[in-house]
Amino acid sequence: MTAISDDITIYRGDWVLPVSAPVLADGGLAVSGERIVGVGTAPALLSAHPEAVVVDLGRSIIMPGFVNCHSHVEYTSFRGILDDSEFGDWIISLVDVKASLTPEEYLVSAKLGAIEAISSGITTLADTSYSGVTLEAAAEAGLRGRLYLEVFGVDDTHLDETMADVERRLAEAQAAAPSSFDVGLAPHAPYTVSSRLYQAVSALARSRGLKVMSHVAESKEEITYVRSGSGKFAHDFREKMGWERMLVQPFGVSPIKYLQQWDVFDEDFLAVHCVQVSLDDIRILKAKKVAVAHCPKSNAKLGCGVAPLADLLHEGVRVGLGTDSPASSNIMDMFGEMRTMLFLHRAVERDVTVLDAQKCVRIATLGGAEALGMQDDIGSLEPGKFADFIAVDVSKSHFAPIDDPHSALVYGANQGDVLLTVVGGRPLFRDHVYTDLDAEAIRGAAFGVRKKLRDRVRAGSVQVGAAESGWWQTSTGDAGEETP
Ligand SMILES: [Zn+2]
Repeated sequence: MTAISDDITIYRGDWVLPVSAPVLADGGLAVSGERIVGVGTAPALLSAHPEAVVVDLGRSIIMPGFVNCHSHVEYTSFRGILDDSEFGDWIISLVDVKASLTPEEYLVSAKLGAIEAISSGITTLADTSYSGVTLEAAAEAGLRGRLYLEVFGVDDTHLDETMADVERRLAEAQAAAPSSFDVGLAPHAPYTVSSRLYQAVSALARSRGLKVMSHVAESKEEITYVRSGSGKFAHDFREKMGWERMLVQPFGVSPIKYLQQWDVFDEDFLAVHCVQVSLDDIRILKAKKVAVAHCPKSNAKLGCGVAPLADLLHEGVRVGLGTDSPASSNIMDMFGEMRTMLFLHRAVERDVTVLDAQKCVRIATLGGAEALGMQDDIGSLEPGKFADFIAVDVSKSHFAPIDDPHSALVYGANQGDVLLTVVGGRPLFRDHVYTDLDAEAIRGAAFGVRKKLRDRVRAGSVQVGAAESGWWQTSTGDAGEETP
């Protein structure tokens, strides 16, 4: 690993966006060890620290690293499969695809996600995983974040076994977690977790001070399932999971009201998606201090809809931005996610005042940190916080001229414009090169995983369900190669 210096290093850029303070032209960030020790104009910092090492990043924007509030890096190898499936078919198909990967293959997949995160300027991941391979991938990559350990179970006759398994996996994950990662729990969703299991997970989390996330109110299928006990999740999905013999109870309410009545909501709860929520639901989220992870691209691509972000923000709910997994949104590009968020909500609301570029940057950084309860350590450039920051190269013609760097970032930038990614004072990616990782080897291994998956589908050992995109039928492209 690249060493962290306790000497002061000043990173200079044409703009510095602290997020919690106004933009600085000809700005600088002073870093010592893993923390920020100064933010100001470059001349002021240079005169305050004349001995400092100076890294001049030229025509760039220095900003906090992105906080990706919802990802599944272990699914990165599924990128581009099932591109045209609607949500219900997509998740049913994914059951078999997920079951076909070995633990080693999941680790390769997670490592591919981790290198993408680094090169696209994500410094903190709130990652949901059943296997927990995120921890090894993130530790190797040097990323910060939280693993939400996934929990499934609708059969309450197995509740004690399920919770014993959760406790065992939790202890393993906590032992394996690098110092930059904590571990929370992720009861998957109202259609895969019984109310009693939600309550048991919540009780365990509260007794241990752990954070909780759950996929909530994502699709119309989920609404139908919770409200009426019917639809694709009550039939096709439960059959696929082997749960068809268990009675599905209609609860007659929205997923938010359903979870509220089991008392699982609190300020440590992150509700991911919240596409299908009413104003009543949003007021419950606000009253219970629940945070929301907004995943606009994933929700749009799977045909789920557009979350009512304007209402969430208006009611004062904490909202962060998430890319979701490459199985649904293909790339973990927070610039594209910000841009999609702004365009979707302006289009849906027919109102340009609903979001602007500055608000998007805040949601993607400090907003995410607040949603995860990490705002004291990350999310903005302030002395005392971790030196988790990125530099975006804005020297190319599509950025010229720049008056407002927020505008350049949201309307113009893409993940390929990231020049530098630093986590805890340690540069992980510099001048488009990984400082410690063999990205070619990781990509090559991931191509191998995809090839094996393709072979298993062709051989008939993996069913891909009703939604046939046909991705495994082609033989061209990287998936056929062991090496890039
Ligand atoms: Zn998810």
